[in-house]
Amino acid sequence: MNSSGLCEIMRLSGEKFRLTPYRQNVRFWREGLNLYIDSIMATAPQLTEDRKTDLKSLTPGKLQQYCTELGLQRFRADQLAQWMYQKKESDFSRMTNLSKELREKLEESACIRTIEPVFRAESADGTIKFLYRLHDGHRVEAVLIPDFDEDGQPKRMTVCISSQVGCVFGCSFCATGKMGFFRNLTCGEIADQAIHINDEAEKVYGRGLTNIVYMGMGEPLHNYESVVASGHIITSKFGLGMSPKRLTISTVGLGKQIRQYGEERQPFNLALSLHAATDEKRDQIMPINASMNLNDLREALKYYHEQTGAGVTYEYLLFDHFNDEEGDARELARISRWIPSKVNIIMYNNVEGVELQRAKEERLDRFMKMLTDQDVLATVRRSRGDDIDAGCGQLAIRDQQKKGKSLVKN
Ligand code: SF4
Repeated sequence: MNSSGLCEIMRLSGEKFRLTPYRQNVRFWREGLNLYIDSIMATAPQLTEDRKTDLKSLTPGKLQQYCTELGLQRFRADQLAQWMYQKKESDFSRMTNLSKELREKLEESACIRTIEPVFRAESADGTIKFLYRLHDGHRVEAVLIPDFDEDGQPKRMTVCISSQVGCVFGCSFCATGKMGFFRNLTCGEIADQAIHINDEAEKVYGRGLTNIVYMGMGEPLHNYESVVASGHIITSKFGLGMSPKRLTISTVGLGKQIRQYGEERQPFNLALSLHAATDEKRDQIMPINASMNLNDLREALKYYHEQTGAGVTYEYLLFDHFNDEEGDARELARISRWIPSKVNIIMYNNVEGVELQRAKEERLDRFMKMLTDQDVLATVRRSRGDDIDAGCGQLAIRDQQKKGKSLVKN
């Protein structure tokens, strides 16, 4: 969250809300102020109880700054990043290319926090879900989704990673939204999910990650600085060295951050979680639509496209008899022409306690035909890992005792 995030969060939390059915469900500006303070705390360098700086909470730029403040040359930041992310070392005493004096200096003022895999579940279809414990006991999930060619050889290794513990936006179909928001992840906590799962993919399937999507727990652009920094860590030579075009950062539709993402010409793909093609239906399932409706989204996306020349992927969960009618396909086709785009129709992993249900296969086929008849570039992403609760937040929600902050009341 950058310094002008206060206005955005206050706006999101109700100050300028239009009259919608959700208005009465939205908390007022005080809640926004608390969330803003949480965001500041989460993107500031993380200090341990003994006032040490967690080096993995620092963006690559801040790590360089930290080294400079310690009186070190800038290349030391690269060495440290290499030890932390490439060699997965968190003990300074084992960083053998640093002098003894420097190692002692770092021991005194810094530490390196790591995420700990505490549970894994493997689906019959090859999907593997991981649950990680963070240093403060919170848990987040990530999912490895392998695709195989006709001979059963691994073709694509996609990982879906988390960016926050919980989420404030409370979309009605989402398990993570039901937890409420606890805190942002640091850039290191985000990058480490991808780095750990890359090792697992190589071990289990003999092939490292080919694609990374930020579509796990949390709203990525609500944790802008750490999410973008994690992308730069993952694509750097001390991370996984992947092309930025292999990373896709999704958003529920935070207009200000979409514009910032465009102005900064971030090299990663952008996906927009649309899920309904009219304001009326989006209002019913996504509270964000009350402050950022489809008109606002169109303007933000056009600005992003003007700045970058890049297109967008619309993510569209298909719900039975909710957003799978002819009128929905027509509106979705219209939206798909705002800027160059493609549409991912996603088959929903049903979530306990959620009324919306995955669309039936015949309705999916009908909907896809309506889209292709209107020249929409659309693909289907089938639900994976149903037997292991692969929908994000489904495992972690069982572990979280108290409810975090949310823009939507219970
Ligand atoms: S769908 Fe995304 S933005 Fe909505 S509640 Fe879930 S994690 Fe948050």
